[in-house]
This record gives sequence, C-alpha cells and structure tokens, in this order.
Amino acid sequence: MQKKDQLYAGKAKTVYATDDAQRYVMYFRNDTSAFDGLKKEQLDRKGEVNNKFNAFIMTQLEQAGVATHFERLLSNEESLVKKLEMIPVECVVRNIAAGSICKRLGIEEGRDLTPPTFEFFLKNDALHDPMINDYHIRSFGWATDAEIARMKELTFQVNGVLKRLFLDAGLLLVDYKLEFGRCGGQVMLGDEFTPDGCRLWDAQTRKKLDKDRFRQGLGSVVEAYEEVARRLGVDLSPVK
Ligand code: C5P
Repeated sequence: MQKKDQLYAGKAKTVYATDDAQRYVMYFRNDTSAFDGLKKEQLDRKGEVNNKFNAFIMTQLEQAGVATHFERLLSNEESLVKKLEMIPVECVVRNIAAGSICKRLGIEEGRDLTPPTFEFFLKNDALHDPMINDYHIRSFGWATDAEIARMKELTFQVNGVLKRLFLDAGLLLVDYKLEFGRCGGQVMLGDEFTPDGCRLWDAQTRKKLDKDRFRQGLGSVVEAYEEVARRLGVDLSPVK
C-alpha cells in the first residue's frame, strides 16, 4: 500500500492518503498530550504499543459483530483503515465514576454507575470538547436520529464485549470514548481504542493503567499500557 499525502495530524495520530481512494494509513505517534494539549511529551514505544493494542481490540470487536474502519497492521506504528466521513461527536460510556464526571457532578471517584451512563461531547479543541445532547446533534445537523441511535447502540455493544474481555484479564473498564463515521451508508467505529482513550484499573488493587498515569504524573505510562497488552495477549512482536 503506497502512502501518499498527509491529510490530518491529530494530537497522537497522523492520517495519510494512499493510492486507494477508499483507504487511509493511520500512523500512531509517540506524542502524548493532555489538558487540551497543555501537557505534552514524547513517550518511547507508545505509538507502537497503541497501534498493536488498537489492532487487537478492533479485531475483537469485528469478531463480535461491530463494524470498524480497521483493516490490518501495516508496520509497527501504522495500520490500514477504511476512509470514513467522521461524525464530529465523541461517545463516552462510564461504568465507574472517574475524570470529568466527578468534577462536573461532585461524584466520588470509584463509584459504580449502574446502569452505565452515556454522554456525548462535541469534538472541538478550541471549545474544550463541550458536553452536548441529542438535541444539539440534531439541531446542528451533526448526525441524524438514526445515526444517533446507532452510535448509542454500538457504544453499548462495545461495552458488553470489552468489559468482559478486560475483566477476564483482571482489569476494570472504567470508561472510554468512541468516535464513529459513515462508510457506504453504514455507521462504523473509527479512530482508535487504546489506553489513551479509556480508563482501565487493576480489578484487585484499582491501580490506574491508562492515560491518567500521564495526566496525573504517576509515571510508567507506556509500561502500564504494555502490562495491559500482555494481560490481554496482544502480540507486541515486530510487524514483518
Ligand atoms: O475526561 P473524561 O472523564 O470526560 O473522559 C472520559 C473518557 O473518555 C476517558 O477514558 C478519556 O480518556 C476519554 N476521552 C478521550 N478523548 C477526549 C475526552 C475523553 O479519549 N477528548
């Protein structure tokens, strides 16, 4: 697959066109950022670990019947994905209270959320990704009723699959963020699923093994991602 022009550079990934108009290359960089880019660092091996972690999770989701943009690993830091028309909202499910919901609603970290909550945020760095609801999405034409319903349905389907997968590896899936796009008239999971975009705690000790290690300056960030990957059985060997 011939990599061509750079189309988009996000905070941790760069997307390139390819010689196939329907396929992109997603390159996972070592850049790590938090607090709307205020805290930034290069973390050795992170791009590679996240690329392989994402490939593993996307494959598991595909096997469970969730359509994703992922096609295959191309190299240690690159994957081939389908071109999607991205919907500019973030879908967050929370099984346990942590992060912004604690600040916003004065909830103590660690409280079980039964049933899990669902939140939409607008993908807009300049506005600090504000929380929005279905009505905003409809009024501003970001997605249709059917697409809103589908994003919720798929996000909860992912919860069912991944909560079990992580628990079997001794991990609690605290919360996560998903992004969706359109492809051939279908809503599909895009972007990534890595410890950069979810919270994972050791099921026994509740030790944080996700990007909160970076946000909170707890250290050993990539080592924690690697531990999660090893527990899940992610293949971290070099891509040939
Ligand atoms: O910050 P907050 O608690 O709302 O984040 C909820 C979940 O969504 C966390 O797992 C966080 O890593 C993820 N998230 C993300 N990208 C954002 C906002 C949140 O991956 N822009």
